[in-house]
Amino acid sequence: MKKTETVIVTAPEKTISERRNIEALCAAKGMRMTEQRRTIARVLADSDDHPDVEELYRRCVKVDDRISISTVYRTVRLFEDSGIIERHDFREGRARYETSTEGHHDHLINLRNGEVIEFQSEEIERLQAEVARKLGYRLVDHRLELYAVPLKDDKTS
Ligand SMILES: [Zn+2]
Repeated sequence: MKKTETVIVTAPEKTISERRNIEALCAAKGMRMTEQRRTIARVLADSDDHPDVEELYRRCVKVDDRISISTVYRTVRLFEDSGIIERHDFREGRARYETSTEGHHDHLINLRNGEVIEFQSEEIERLQAEVARKLGYRLVDHRLELYAVPLKDDKTS
């Protein structure tokens, strides 16, 4: 087979519209949606990055200043337990969240500023499945995190 170049594409726009469905997903899971839970769900849906609880709290308070950080913590845990959002540990000592999407993507974490870049690589996906298969397994899920510093930083140091 001809060797193909690694094709790395940042996550497509469609994930954004998938993220808007969070309220509908909560309803489908039979979750009782209070006004505050609804606000938190909307803030999560509008977040295209990977905020931690404190950042979510800051965004929620702008919408409804009666929301407490413990409500945000509890609600985020509830959403996580229901599989509506995903928790990530990007080695910063704080959990970061994003709404679950159907399209799989991996993350590159900029160690300089904590920025998280989403990407997809068909070649990496294929290789991972192949490694599992060679070890006698069928791959069902995986997480891949790349920890990196910008190339331009290397030149100056
Ligand atoms: Zn992501």
